[in-house]
Amino acid sequence: FSSRELTAHYLQRIEKADTKLNSFISVTAEQALQQAEIADNARANGTAGTLAGIPLALKDIFCTRDVKTSCGSKMLDNFIAPYDATVVEKLSAAGTISLGKTNMDEFAMGSSNENSYYGPVKNPWDLTAVPGGSSGGSAAAVAAGLVPAAMGTDTGGSIRQPAAFCGITGLKPTYGRVSRFGIIAYASSLDQAGPMARSAEDCAHLLGVIAGHDGRDSTSVARGVPDYVESLDAPLSGLKIGLPKEYFGDGLAPEVEKAVRDAVKVYESLGATVRDVSLPHTHYAIPAYYVIAPAEASSNLSRYDGVRFGHRCDNPSDLIDLYTRSRAEGFGEEVKRRILIGTHTLSEGFFDAYYTKAQQVRRLIRQDFLDAFEDVDVLMGPASPTPAFDLGAKKDPVSMYLQDIYTIAVNLAGIPGISVPAGFVGNRPVGLQILGTHFAEAQLLNVAHQFQ
Ligand code: GLN
Repeated sequence: FSSRELTAHYLQRIEKADTKLNSFISVTAEQALQQAEIADNARANGTAGTLAGIPLALKDIFCTRDVKTSCGSKMLDNFIAPYDATVVEKLSAAGTISLGKTNMDEFAMGSSNENSYYGPVKNPWDLTAVPGGSSGGSAAAVAAGLVPAAMGTDTGGSIRQPAAFCGITGLKPTYGRVSRFGIIAYASSLDQAGPMARSAEDCAHLLGVIAGHDGRDSTSVARGVPDYVESLDAPLSGLKIGLPKEYFGDGLAPEVEKAVRDAVKVYESLGATVRDVSLPHTHYAIPAYYVIAPAEASSNLSRYDGVRFGHRCDNPSDLIDLYTRSRAEGFGEEVKRRILIGTHTLSEGFFDAYYTKAQQVRRLIRQDFLDAFEDVDVLMGPASPTPAFDLGAKKDPVSMYLQDIYTIAVNLAGIPGISVPAGFVGNRPVGLQILGTHFAEAQLLNVAHQFQ
């Protein structure tokens, strides 16, 4: 069948099912069908790449020329970027077709997708459950078969946790593996884009397209991009798996623990050996992250001043009124909370006590992982302490932050991680998280693929 037929099929699925899920903020049907025709012609001429004609969706944090990029916020409800993000450019150059922009927590702050200006996304497995966040729209859309794959970003778990909650595969690459150019900044030293799809194989194809150095992002790393697909079938005999004891402690739902331990047994049957390891500074990860991420966010979000772009209040009486009212009206509650925290921790007199201390802790957390990878090849554990929780269940922010216990240290350390489906608790999926050392994406995809 043609790409046009494929694209039309998914557009119909979106039209039918997304009224229930709310996973898309913008659907770009017309552009998609046009691109599909171009891909079909390229196929007919024999000039098409492997992914030509494959429909995708983009989290609404990736800047797209001609299509609104809201970042889940009222602040950017009227924003159309004048350029494409590098990830978007690379995906179009590979011939993939964007069906639209997916829902997300406002400015990627959240773990349930309930912080979106466009309303919460529902989990397709159970409409009373959250899809996870902040890339909840991408995860739900893939899980519901509205699109074969989607792009997400992960600053503190936002690819892996929603992938786990929705029963799909999601990969956060090493910091620097994928260009951040044109991705709306949340916490610049943590943000990283990655693929969310039905399988590790699909993620491998997509990572191969989006990875690589970009002169427009000085933190992207000049290092060759391996063929992630070629190594998917490498045998796992002799693979050394570490189970961090801190990832199996208090707060972990027993059914989630069982699903993860069952998955580890599958790896043993494939020839892997398993041992317990320790990441002793794990319990500092949430406090360190919730100092560093809001600090960087408060700085990044200072550009939304009602002057250059984004929401502007009506009839400002003077410049200060313009700033304060535009920001008060444009930002939601959680974003304001983060800006307040970040501004406080960066202020004179508090900087050393909070920000400098958190950076020191970050170093220790990174060292924990490097020490562990001296002894083992990969680490395995749960992606989240529980399966998807009910919509509205976590009202106080700290209980929401505690959700991120198994995902956030990975961003602080800059290492890659993948979440793969590992069964269900009732009707809600469980994710197995696999972690590797810096630039070990090929190995993570190989290990994930062997389980699927
Ligand atoms: N829950 C984290 C936060 O709210 C996740 C952020 C992310 O990865 N974008 O900061």
